[in-house]
Amino acid sequence: MVPERLLRQLENRAQKGILRQLQTPTTGLVDFCSNDYLGLASSQELTQLVEAELAGTHLHGATGSRLLSGNSVYAQELEAALALFHRAEAALLFNSGYAANVGFFSSVPQRGDTILYDEASHASMKDGIRLSFAQSFAFRHNDLEDLHAKLKRARGDVYVAVESLYSMDGDQAPLADLAALCQEQGLYLVVDEAHSNGIYGPNGEGLVVELGLQEQVFARIMTFGKALGSHGAAVIGPKALQEFLLNFSRAFIYTTALPFASLATIKTAYQLLPSLDQDRETLKKLAKQYQNQLTESGVFGLNSGKGTKNGPIQSWHLADPHALKQLAGTVQEAGFDVRPIFSPTVPPGTERLRIVLHAFNTQEQLQQLCSLLLQHSPSVIL
Ligand code: PMP
Repeated sequence: MVPERLLRQLENRAQKGILRQLQTPTTGLVDFCSNDYLGLASSQELTQLVEAELAGTHLHGATGSRLLSGNSVYAQELEAALALFHRAEAALLFNSGYAANVGFFSSVPQRGDTILYDEASHASMKDGIRLSFAQSFAFRHNDLEDLHAKLKRARGDVYVAVESLYSMDGDQAPLADLAALCQEQGLYLVVDEAHSNGIYGPNGEGLVVELGLQEQVFARIMTFGKALGSHGAAVIGPKALQEFLLNFSRAFIYTTALPFASLATIKTAYQLLPSLDQDRETLKKLAKQYQNQLTESGVFGLNSGKGTKNGPIQSWHLADPHALKQLAGTVQEAGFDVRPIFSPTVPPGTERLRIVLHAFNTQEQLQQLCSLLLQHSPSVIL
């Protein structure tokens, strides 16, 4: 027996054309979908490095939480290396970016404090914020004026939470302005770098380091499941923050630590990052190509969404879920893996294909994709 209301909710989604379903992967499609921006998830070089790192070691579970049997010198050395790489005092590993955000926001901002967060922030940040006893207000996406207005209601310690590169829109937060504001007013800036880690900065340290703002940012959330081609995450910041999280963050304390195989993959992926300059350049060139092609076709701003997007996340907006699903199907049949993103993952009316660029995509492939999008989208929006 299944409660009637669950069935009704599923039916409701199906009727609107937004029922989430697992899609069996089709092999051989050109990847314009995954977050494997640099191709590390399938890199032969990384495989060899990981195999060498794992040789002769056990590959099973960590056997407990980091505070009990799950700790290792290897994990602590990895954290020290992460802190050094990202130019911070300390790092603390979490099992995923989701866990890192929930673990951070549910424990650090406390009763009597305030969290001001960009409305486009990732679900894991919002879930952590819901678990926090601090009061919280969303401000309009990338809107500093609205942030100023919301600041009037702030009390206690004030945390400002943003993503450096937004996961669905692909635009950047105005980090320099935010950092200046936070410094001036004594606010704590928290930046989720899930989608900029590996992509920006001289060695892929992220956007905060590229902009030289590391001293002005209180905490950064780095995830390893995207450009690093692995999984897991770390919160990067002051030593006292690391100590606080390992004492009070339940998403860190009450969970089995990452297994050695994961730590080894993260460590070796980081070893490769500095050598991937060319790939980072390719990504930027492809982003420019996509934006230029849309501009030349006269659909820039209509189908591309707002904001400057010089990174790997681009989009093709089409608000009708049924038309969007059909477009995705047509493009997939032509050999390109693109996926539609529906509400509530994005706000209703902003449904889109999330077009993800990779260092291994070619200009010709992107050109073909753009032609397909232009050719098969309903003419009303062209
Ligand atoms: N933060 C952002 C901005 C994300 O896009 C994601 C993943 N979609 C996460 C956190 C969660 O990271 P993970 O996949 O490692 O749980």
